[in-house]
Amino acid sequence: MIPEIEKASVQNIKAFQEAKLQELLPYLKEHSTYYQRLFAGQNIDIEQIKTLEDLAKIPVTSKDDLQKYNDDFLCVPKNKIIDYVTTSGTLGDPVTFALTDKDLDRLAYNEAISFACAGVTGEDVLQLMTTIDRRFMAGLAYFLGVRKLGGGIIRVGAGIPELQWDSILKFRPTYLIVVPSFLLKLIEYAKSHDINLEESGVKGAICIGESLRNQDFTLNTLAEKITSQWDIQLFSTYASTEMNTAFTECEFQKGGHHHPELIIAEILDDHNLPVPSGKVGELTITTLGVEGMPLLRFKTGDMVTAHEEPCECGRHTKRLGPVVGRKKQMIKYKGTTLYPPAMENILNDFNEVECYVIEIYHNNIGTDEICIKIASHNKSDKFMHNIKDHFRAKLRVTPKIEFHDKKEIEAIRFPSMSRKPILVIDKRK
Ligand SMILES: [Zn+2]
Repeated sequence: MIPEIEKASVQNIKAFQEAKLQELLPYLKEHSTYYQRLFAGQNIDIEQIKTLEDLAKIPVTSKDDLQKYNDDFLCVPKNKIIDYVTTSGTLGDPVTFALTDKDLDRLAYNEAISFACAGVTGEDVLQLMTTIDRRFMAGLAYFLGVRKLGGGIIRVGAGIPELQWDSILKFRPTYLIVVPSFLLKLIEYAKSHDINLEESGVKGAICIGESLRNQDFTLNTLAEKITSQWDIQLFSTYASTEMNTAFTECEFQKGGHHHPELIIAEILDDHNLPVPSGKVGELTITTLGVEGMPLLRFKTGDMVTAHEEPCECGRHTKRLGPVVGRKKQMIKYKGTTLYPPAMENILNDFNEVECYVIEIYHNNIGTDEICIKIASHNKSDKFMHNIKDHFRAKLRVTPKIEFHDKKEIEAIRFPSMSRKPILVIDKRK
């Protein structure tokens, strides 16, 4: 199930997206208070926006805009809203997203073609190991997508390895939908309870929330730890509530495929201009076909590289590499530009590191400093040297590293109300 447009030529995909843009702009002008104000205030004549290049004439929308003017983005009356979702906002208050009936259909389509991209078919049964409630979009999207694809789904939810294994052995799912580090917990449980991993019937895992690959698409340490113990295929997906859209790997696993019928993706520099092909920039998206809260040139805050060459799977859509980092978490350290995920990968190489948190702050001359707090039974100088050497080898710089109690670090990592562990504490500005 590859949508025809994804196999079309690059020129045809562009023309297709430009036609979709011609539907979006009048819709925004008619229904979105925020974009009406933007077009009027900036003297933007939407008739003049014809090509994807013309998008550069429209100012970008930031996460702060979305938070400050949340209600102004809503394009439908309240009685058309079916589902309410929230995301954590950068300024503190959560941002609300509202989905109409049509948006839920779009979400189901998005997830169905994403699953199909990873090789999932209507014959498969998937076990959902993420939250489906708590005003969270992803779990619901997975459920709707599997239903649309005609597959089966077991909604176990997050955590509880015992219940997960009970379901795997009882219902024989072929794919798991999971945060990859949780697979390590499942492996551990299986090993200590005489469960044969290779006879589980699980073929693969659709992974969210954590990266599986290095920038060259080889498996990172986390993914290697999983696949060396359990012979399953791991698929990366990248999605967000704001996008209402997922970028999912195909069987060749060379980045998440762009679905041109659902979203326009630009990769921009600090001046909101496109970066040259193959360079890292901020993913900026324009949603297509969204009725409740469509977004135009929304800067996601995620730094990525787009790969434009055609994929072996037959799709001609661009692919996004693993997220290099959050733009806000970019660190200038001793002349090097760093993002926390690169440091996380290095720390994951050490089994003796039980948990950690990365703190970023300004020193007294206003430049960036990094302090990594680690919990380990091994607090020897030799171990500390090993870690520092590994940092020097991989990143050319060594941050400050300290050993702390596990309890103390866990308290920082799991503040109440957080849906996932916090690995990076940014104390700058
Ligand atoms: Zn492909």
